[in-house]
Amino acid sequence: MPCPRLECGSATDFIIRMLLSVALCVAMLAGCTDSADKTSQPQKTYASAADLDSFCDRLPRAAYADFRKHKASDDWFEVYEVEPGIFAIYEPFQWQEVISYLIVGTESALLFDTGNGIGDIKAVVEQLTDEPVRVLNSHSHFDHIGGNYQFDDVLSIATEFTLARTGGIQSDEVRMEASPAALCKSLPVGVTEANHQTRPFSITETIAEGDVVDIGGRRLEVLHVPGHTDDSIALLDRDAGFLWSGDSFYEGPIWLFFPETDLAAYQKSVAKLAAVAADLKAVFPAHNTPKADPALLMQLRENLDRVLTGKVEPVPVSDGNVEFRFDGFSFLMRANYHSLTTDN
Ligand SMILES: [Zn+2]
Repeated sequence: MPCPRLECGSATDFIIRMLLSVALCVAMLAGCTDSADKTSQPQKTYASAADLDSFCDRLPRAAYADFRKHKASDDWFEVYEVEPGIFAIYEPFQWQEVISYLIVGTESALLFDTGNGIGDIKAVVEQLTDEPVRVLNSHSHFDHIGGNYQFDDVLSIATEFTLARTGGIQSDEVRMEASPAALCKSLPVGVTEANHQTRPFSITETIAEGDVVDIGGRRLEVLHVPGHTDDSIALLDRDAGFLWSGDSFYEGPIWLFFPETDLAAYQKSVAKLAAVAADLKAVFPAHNTPKADPALLMQLRENLDRVLTGKVEPVPVSDGNVEFRFDGFSFLMRANYHSLTTDN
C-alpha cells in the first residue's frame, strides 16, 4: 500500500521502518498535519513505495468524493456508506489507511476487520446498527484486529498464525503505529505512542473455506486466500456481486515481503479471486480506497504471473525489497522473491 505498512517482521523490516519514519517526520515538519488543507492537492490513486514522504499529502483521496460521509464519523474514523447497508469505516489519518467494513443485514451485522485499535470502533458501530454484531477478520495483522477486544463474538479461520495473535501484540512495531511519523492528526484522548498495543481477544467460533455467514438478506461466503498471511480470507456475496478482498488486493503497493507471506500460495489465491471477477460488481479492499473495479483482479493475476515468471523488471526500493509497478497497484517483495516461490 502507499503508506508504510508497519506489520510484524524481521529486524531488517524494523530498520526499514525507522528510515521510513524519518522520511515521514520530515514531511510532517513540512506541515502535513492538517489534512483538511490538502483538498487542492493533486490526487493520486497510486503512489510508489518510494513516495512515502507524501502520506499526508494524499489526503483526502479523491475516491471518497463518490460517497456520502456518514454522520457516524468521528475525529478518528470516517464512515462512508459505499452500498446500502455496507459501511466503510476508514482510518484516514494513520499511515495504514485501513478500512474496516460493517455489513448490516436484516437480522445481524458483520464487522469485517476492526482496524488499528486506536479509535473506539465499537462506538462507531453502535451508531450504525442496533443489531447483534459479529466480527470476522480478513487476516490477523495488527491493523485489522486492533478493535477485536471490544467485541464478544469473533469468528476466525484460526490458523497457528491467528492464534498467536489472540494474545495481543506489545511491540515497538505496534507502538510505532501511534508515533508522530504515522499520523496526520493527534491521537484520540488516552492513546499514546507509549501505551498503544494490540489487545488480547478471544475467538468464539472458527470458520473455514466455503462457510457462509448469513446476516439476513445477505449471505457472505468465506474464501480462504492464503498468501499475504496463511489466515487471509476474502468475503464473497455472490448474489450482489460484491467481494471484500482484505489485503490480498488493494489499490497501492501490496506488501508481500513479510516472513509470513507465501508467494506461491498468494499466486493461487489471486487466481481464485480473478476467477470470480467476471461475476462481480465491486471489490471492497482493506486499505486506501473503499471500492475498486473488479477488472483489476484480472490484472492482478496477469501481472503477478508475469512477475513470478521473471517477465517484469523489479525496481529496488529499500533494503532487501523490490517493487513491481503497474497501473493502480504494485507488488513489494523481497529481492530474493524468486527463491520464495517454491510451489510453482
Ligand atoms: Zn496485512
